[in-house]
Amino acid sequence: MAFDECIPYHATFQEAKKAMELSMRWALRSKNSYQNRNGYGIFAIVQGNAYQELREASANFLSSIDFDGYAIGGLAVGEPQAVMFDVLDYTIPLLPKFKPRYLMGVGKPSDVVGAVERGVDMFDCVIPTRSGRNGQAFVRNGTINIRNAQYSEDIRPLDSECSCYTCSNFHRAYLHHLVRAKEILGSILMTWHNIHYYQDLMRELREKIIWS
Ligand SMILES: [Zn+2]
Repeated sequence: MAFDECIPYHATFQEAKKAMELSMRWALRSKNSYQNRNGYGIFAIVQGNAYQELREASANFLSSIDFDGYAIGGLAVGEPQAVMFDVLDYTIPLLPKFKPRYLMGVGKPSDVVGAVERGVDMFDCVIPTRSGRNGQAFVRNGTINIRNAQYSEDIRPLDSECSCYTCSNFHRAYLHHLVRAKEILGSILMTWHNIHYYQDLMRELREKIIWS
């Protein structure tokens, strides 16, 4: 990744402009000092906060330089989902069509689906693992907080449609007990399920793209 400056969502236009222009200078210096290595590449990062004029200037500048991929940074910093989707709507069409697009730090399953619909290819996010460690599971119809008392005698799997190791071997009541008792196995099993859930989600999205 090129070096960049990511600023808070409520930054002023002037603050956002200054950070974006600094990031563009750094992007150029990063590209110029990058040494090609087999199997590696360098990605640029679009900045500009939630200001369309700044995002467009950033995307156009970076597109004029031949990076291996293009990231959209400075999102997932507390803005509403509608704002994030809005930024993607006007930023992505300005990026090179045949280079991967990477949305940094996103997100919840609905964020990922909406971003893929808008042309994003790659993501990174702590949500599946951090939520798992905190006792939250993503399931087909929402989320489950396994700490809640309602799961203390619930002998169903976390998600009846999931084929992960956790769902294949353990029920909610056992996971509830592990997490409540602060047993590390609880964090491990919850995280295992969440990562599997995200893998299933991405696989389904890839299949829908192939068949659409
Ligand atoms: Zn599972």
